[in-house]
Amino acid sequence: MAENYDLIIIGGGPAGLAAGIYASRRKLKTLIVAKNIGGQAGYASQVENYPGYESIGGFELMQKFQKQAEKFGCGFKYEEVLEVKKEKDLFVSKTSGGEYKSLALILAFGMTPRNLDVSGEKEFLGKGVAYCATCDGPLFKNKIVAVVGGGNAALESILYLSKIAKKVYVVHRRGEFTGEAVLVDKIKNEKNVELVLDSVVTGIKGNKFVKSIGVENTKSKEKSEILLDGVFIEIGHVVNAEPIKKLVKLDENNAVIIDSDCQTNVPGCFGAGDVTNIKFKQIVISAGEGAKAALSAYKYLQRLQNKENPLFDWGKK
Ligand code: NDP
Repeated sequence: MAENYDLIIIGGGPAGLAAGIYASRRKLKTLIVAKNIGGQAGYASQVENYPGYESIGGFELMQKFQKQAEKFGCGFKYEEVLEVKKEKDLFVSKTSGGEYKSLALILAFGMTPRNLDVSGEKEFLGKGVAYCATCDGPLFKNKIVAVVGGGNAALESILYLSKIAKKVYVVHRRGEFTGEAVLVDKIKNEKNVELVLDSVVTGIKGNKFVKSIGVENTKSKEKSEILLDGVFIEIGHVVNAEPIKKLVKLDENNAVIIDSDCQTNVPGCFGAGDVTNIKFKQIVISAGEGAKAALSAYKYLQRLQNKENPLFDWGKK
């Protein structure tokens, strides 16, 4: 028998957890279904731009969000969502652990790492190829690694790995970085960081474990091989839309299309955070969008029950 909720939130990152706090404070029977707590933010070694904290570990910040949601009565299931359907007025979420029904739904399950799509990438996953420096970095103490990418995620990984590894090569396809200038300055000051710019990885080689990467300079077309022990691929993220592709409208990047109230094209289904087509993937923005999605879901449920209260802050719209 499926368990019934007012609201199910799919995703346990900043958007999902903030939605959980707001929904539970409105006394909605709320369930967060997530594979893990924190999402990408949970892997950030240090977060220095979340207002109120000069510097805090990403996972520590996410644990605080979770504790706050639990305090107000939000439930949690650590399961993978396989498919979501709307049957009459109810959303049915099938997961690795069961089936749950809800009157409203918030999609907040973020994104998954983008693949480089080169030879050896799949073969050596977990044997030198990694997508998360905070998770796998400690395995490369005093070893030689490369980070591929030039955005904020790559820059943070480079900084983190430069404190652990003997040497960090940075392979980036452009001559300049897209991440924050403050982070770029920091990595340039690290003595064990070597920049390999205007260059792409052509393949990853090894025996049991990674031994080298092939690199090609995009301007000179010169090819070279870098001997190393690990490759961290930090080239952005993509939405895994499989569980919801039949439910809601997605854009050309598979992002969930929402309006300024976080409403999708399906009544009662809302979206928040990196899974949506909203610009700027930041913890503070995701948290704000999660709060907004929860308030919109509450308003939708009030309407369903014909109890809309004009005193609510959003009621003045
Ligand atoms: P970004 O999209 O910002 O950067 C992706 C990087 O990977 C770019 O340098 C891009 O190069 C490169 N890239 C993309 N595809 C390929 C490819 N196929 N081969 C080689 N290189 C490739 O992704 P991030 O994961 O870095 O960040 C995502 C979002 O999260 C951003 O908005 C970022 O600001 C945010 N973030 C914020 C943090 C913070 O505030 N502390 C920490 C981490 C992330 P190119 O420029 O040529 O496309």
